[in-house]
Amino acid sequence: MKQLLVTYDDLYLDWLLGKGDGSHPTNPVRAQLATALLKKRLGERVRVIHPQPADKVETDKRAMLLVHDGNYVSRTLAGTNGEWYENKPSVAAAGCAMFGGTMRAVEALLTGEALVVFNPQGAKHHARRASGSGFCVFNDMAAAALLLQAQGLKVLYIDWDIHAGDGVMHLLEASGIPCISIHLASGYPADSTMQTGVAGELHNPEKHQYNFNVEHGANDEVFMACIDAAADIIDKYQPDVILLAAGADGHTGSGNLGQLANYTGKGYRYAAQMIAQKANAYAQGRVIIGGAGGYQPLKETPETWALVVEEIYNTVCTTDRRN
Ligand SMILES: [Zn+2]
Repeated sequence: MKQLLVTYDDLYLDWLLGKGDGSHPTNPVRAQLATALLKKRLGERVRVIHPQPADKVETDKRAMLLVHDGNYVSRTLAGTNGEWYENKPSVAAAGCAMFGGTMRAVEALLTGEALVVFNPQGAKHHARRASGSGFCVFNDMAAAALLLQAQGLKVLYIDWDIHAGDGVMHLLEASGIPCISIHLASGYPADSTMQTGVAGELHNPEKHQYNFNVEHGANDEVFMACIDAAADIIDKYQPDVILLAAGADGHTGSGNLGQLANYTGKGYRYAAQMIAQKANAYAQGRVIIGGAGGYQPLKETPETWALVVEEIYNTVCTTDRRN
């Protein structure tokens, strides 16, 4: 049985945005806690690997150029980005490693080393070609999608972070890679090509873009109905690999961004089961999971990520693939 691969290092804890004094809504301890939960629950079935060994740094910088402007990459890696104050090379290094974590996932899938890989600080889905946005600096999922496509694989991206996956969708617009996003109808990132203002769907099948809009405070039933509809879209594309932005910021209760939606473990488990079933049906079990957003960093976010990852891994890796 293949191990669950988790790309994590304490280097991620340097991801201190804003003033870097703890007042910013993001708190990377969620990645450490989620990794610890998975290790505790899965024991030897989980393997944690460094997201960016020294010999991979240059490779990863080249991969950034698939989706980012060269000047933007250079400036950010040197320590300057609008997502934090002043020149902070340690934050840039953490962001670079977070991108690398998803590159290691791509490599592991291509070599067959793993079927399910989780990067808790991955799926920085708002990052744009030449700017950071929404606590995201390097768009790892968009780069991963293009790298996998270049290897001849049919890729599908699905995003249930409570905020629209705008960066990924726009960066992949010319690629033909399908993008599904389930998100708040209003508020950040205020993208009229994805958000409808009220509950509803906004699809553009010619561009392979599928957007499900939910209201603030939406519950599991709303989320699960969107997941059912997304399942039908996945059936249409029959992807060879699924990329999942598993944001936990729709979880019920108040977090660092207040209360956005009322999803619970029931809804997330249902969503994870759907992904696992489709991965088994079409993708030989191959799924890359990025944590995306989550603003209840000490409990609900790591617990939700661990639940989703464990559910997908257990279903995928207990499936007999001999025929
Ligand atoms: Zn979010």
